[in-house]
Amino acid sequence: MTFIVRMLRFVFWVVVVSWSVALLRRLVQRMGQGAAQSQTPVDVPNDAVTRKLVRDPVCGMHIAEVLALPLRQDGELLHFCSTACRDKYVSETRKIAANG
Ligand SMILES: [Zn+2]
Repeated sequence: MTFIVRMLRFVFWVVVVSWSVALLRRLVQRMGQGAAQSQTPVDVPNDAVTRKLVRDPVCGMHIAEVLALPLRQDGELLHFCSTACRDKYVSETRKIAANG
């Protein structure tokens, strides 16, 4: 009979340990979800900004606004794909200004 009692005790402890582990996991998941949920309202507008595309007036390429190089010229905000395009635009507008 002692064997069965030992087995029952063993099974009891296995159940208790697995149950407490499951409970702890649930708690951790809930905490993780709570943190993620509080971040979600901030993440959504950021994602919308990331997806917004702007056009490079020099090469005509479309780039994500966050990755583009901004330049404020005559109160207008322009975006460029690279410093090369921005420098080209700046030098060209200077030439036009010098000629005119
Ligand atoms: Zn460009």
